[in-house]
Amino acid sequence: MKKLLFTPGPLTTSRTVKEAMLEDVGSRDYVFVNAVKEIRSELLSLGHVSREKGYETVLVQGSGTFGIESVISSAIGKNDVLLVLANGAYGERIVKMAIIHQLQHQVLRFPEAETVTAAATEEYLKSHPEITHVACIHSETTTGVFNPVGAIGDTCKKYNKIFIVDAMSSFGGVEMDIEALKIDYLVSSSNKCIEGVPGFAFAICKRSELEKCKGQARSLSLDLYDQWAGLEANGQFRFTPPTLSILAFRQAMKELAAEGGIPAREKRYKTNKLTLDTGMAELGFKQYLQPEIQGHIITSFLYPESPKFNFERFYQKLNDRGLIIYPGKLGKTDAFRIGNIGQIFPDDVKRLIQAIKEVLAEEGIDM
Ligand SMILES: *Cc1c(COP(=O)(O)O)cnc(C)c1O
Repeated sequence: MKKLLFTPGPLTTSRTVKEAMLEDVGSRDYVFVNAVKEIRSELLSLGHVSREKGYETVLVQGSGTFGIESVISSAIGKNDVLLVLANGAYGERIVKMAIIHQLQHQVLRFPEAETVTAAATEEYLKSHPEITHVACIHSETTTGVFNPVGAIGDTCKKYNKIFIVDAMSSFGGVEMDIEALKIDYLVSSSNKCIEGVPGFAFAICKRSELEKCKGQARSLSLDLYDQWAGLEANGQFRFTPPTLSILAFRQAMKELAAEGGIPAREKRYKTNKLTLDTGMAELGFKQYLQPEIQGHIITSFLYPESPKFNFERFYQKLNDRGLIIYPGKLGKTDAFRIGNIGQIFPDDVKRLIQAIKEVLAEEGIDM
């Protein structure tokens, strides 16, 4: 049975993206090397930047976390101090990296149900001049909240800080001008809104910052500078590359362009989100976040109050129908999540709503 993934990644991909992986390719093959080159340059365009403007793309094998860890463990020098703005599990993941790599760091925490704010960041930076870098999550997938990266970027530059953004679950599904947002490092991965398959992460970096990473890495495989130097020298990865994932991603980028680029994709995701919101509200589900701060990538729904509700059974029954939702990840509140990204269209969302309605009836749950 064809499964539809209403998750934050891996996502549902098109048949043609999967078919792009049907050929073996060597890591020195010009087909592969060209694909890497095209991808690196096309990613800059998607972020409205270019090499001429002083930006570079570095591809890093592994999942999205590997890309973030590569940036965090390469960009923060011995005498630097990282400030992590955290309002969910992915912000906390960066804190964990800072601890493991023994980086000087501080954490400014915000409640999960609220956004990170530029005002609180500014207050903090004013009284902590030792901070050199600020890291923030754009779409905090824990809840689905969108953090105001534009305002935070302005604050960072006002105080002359280097700005690192985890835009994992939003890049490709939200128009972002990396230069206008004043982002020095933006990280995302192959299996989120560009709708490729898992295999690598990418960092879009300001070249002048990337150059400072030389010799600073805490690990060989996640050395961002060396990875960049390798790609520049011969277009190749330093170690075994995710060849098939690269081919799938290049196809996914063509399909993104054919759809009408990021604006068209953003519109489709927003239509999915509206369809989801309307349908779930009709069934009686309540959302965890206030609508003003909720992004269009993923939504957290509170468990129904009925004592008959059992998430495992609910999940399994939807799974049996080929519809995959996602468990919650909140600190205290019981919730589950439904994503709107990937090869998912409004009719698919309607199918999911109908299936949820059937499962609630089968389970005898009154909303
Ligand atoms: C998906 C995601 C990541 C990376 O997760 P991986 O499982 O390592 O791919 C990081 N940050 C955010 C906000 C994400 O949504």
